[in-house]
Amino acid sequence: MATDDPQEAPLHLTIIGGGSAGCAAAMWAADHGARVTLVNDGLPLGGNALHVGVFPARLYMRAATLRHRAAHPTLPGLSGAALKVDLKALSAHVQECIERAHTSLVSALRRRRGLELIDGRASLASRSDAASSETLHVVVGKRSWRSDRVLLTCGATSQPPRIEGIEDAETWSLRDLIACTELPSSLIFAGIHDIGLTYAQAFARLGAEVTILHEEDRLLDADHSPALESRLLESLQAEGIRVVLDATVTHLERRKDQTRALGTHQGSPTHWSAARVVIVDHRRPSTEGLGLEALGVERDPGGFVRVDESFRTTHDAIFAAGDIIGRGTRTHAATRDAILAAQNAVMPSRTAGYTPTVPFVIHTDPPLAGVGWDEAQARQAGFDARCFTLDLREHPPGSFSDAPDGLIHLVSDRRSNQLLGARLLAPGAANAIMELAVALRSGLTLPELARLLHPPATLASAIAACARKLDADT
Ligand SMILES: Cc1cc2nc3c(=O)[nH]c(=O)nc-3n(C[C@H](O)[C@H](O)[C@H](O)COP(=O)(O)OP(=O)(O)OC[C@H]3O[C@@H](n4cnc5c(N)ncnc54)[C@H](O)[C@@H]3O)c2cc1C
Repeated sequence: MATDDPQEAPLHLTIIGGGSAGCAAAMWAADHGARVTLVNDGLPLGGNALHVGVFPARLYMRAATLRHRAAHPTLPGLSGAALKVDLKALSAHVQECIERAHTSLVSALRRRRGLELIDGRASLASRSDAASSETLHVVVGKRSWRSDRVLLTCGATSQPPRIEGIEDAETWSLRDLIACTELPSSLIFAGIHDIGLTYAQAFARLGAEVTILHEEDRLLDADHSPALESRLLESLQAEGIRVVLDATVTHLERRKDQTRALGTHQGSPTHWSAARVVIVDHRRPSTEGLGLEALGVERDPGGFVRVDESFRTTHDAIFAAGDIIGRGTRTHAATRDAILAAQNAVMPSRTAGYTPTVPFVIHTDPPLAGVGWDEAQARQAGFDARCFTLDLREHPPGSFSDAPDGLIHLVSDRRSNQLLGARLLAPGAANAIMELAVALRSGLTLPELARLLHPPATLASAIAACARKLDADT
């Protein structure tokens, strides 16, 4: 039973924000005896991952990839077929899948004893009780209650970037894109990141002419190997997707049925046009109106809530996890962290600072997956790191027949010969990365990994070959 004292009533935990992090934490805490109030507002329960992010993105990608494969069979003897796209039907299917998943999430929450769901915008306040000690209160509209602990899982919110003319340019958010029932002839994705790439590729495969404008000179975060990034870029460009790096949009103009994006490319003035501009980036932690300053809850310069190893904020009774703390934006990591935070909030005697290796996947085709450190991060951490990249195009012909393209990149420690990190860009990478996560977690050396019997002509066998080559490279 979750109490500070076994004689007392169950500890009351209020969770603010019902995205993946908040819902997982609420179920865990209720299952472990806490009295839980989950407050949600804005996106419906399930948050970004279910209503905007990975869930709908993968459904669109699946349909788009079926169409792409039919049009471009990679084996001789097969001719391409053009599958028609009914975006209205596809969008309705995606909405239906979201609705089904949402209904099952809500009923899983409602089944929990001691878990109350409240719709509304929550804020926090500190009040003095009869004994003049400060107590923490949660306020939602006219309701207010005292809570022993609070867990903030408010996520991040898209904010329109400061671009001249944006108000009149009828730009789309990813939610607008998901809801659209008629495929625009062309789309500009402004401010891409790994998440938006899935949508950009999916809509290109459904038939839109797609341009990606990205302010940085790299498409992906720095912890992706440049070799994998340029191979991914190559495959996006081969499909006709225009990727413009070092591109800044300063002005938007809507003219008839086109939007013009004016700005600079590598410092020189230029412009791009499309039927619609989708604004992808610019997510900020949702801390506005929570009343954190008055409670002494500190934020970092990016506005993310500061937490310690146990996900406790600078206020003793307030914890935070998920996108609001800004430690990377991955659904499964947000969920895992929120459960650990809930555990620390309701069972203070337990510590849960343990951070297992978190694999990540970008659901492009081929997908890009990774786990552990890249070479630079490993060196920074003090390892004598070395790496090897195996190109599947050059891997012994015929031994890897069903995944002819892609790269495997392994990082190891020269001294111990243990695996430190891996990046995969290949069909099947989303599943294969788990072998490397387990290898990392178990501290396997390269020979141990290579010695495991891998089924031939699979991505797994190519991973073993890469481990052998890196080992031989010492
Ligand atoms: C477009 C997109 C695609 C993504 N794709 C992937 C992917 O492919 N793979 C991956 O691993 N991750 C992906 N992510 C990241 C992933 O969705 C997030 O890491 C994850 O959703 C974070 O969950 P969360 O619970 O912290 O926040 P959220 O899901 O944002 O949930 C927070 C909830 O709290 C509510 N809220 C905020 N303030 C208050 C308040 N004061 N009172 C009450 N309620 C409040 C919000 O409205 C929201 O419902 C994607 C994200 C986006 C936006």
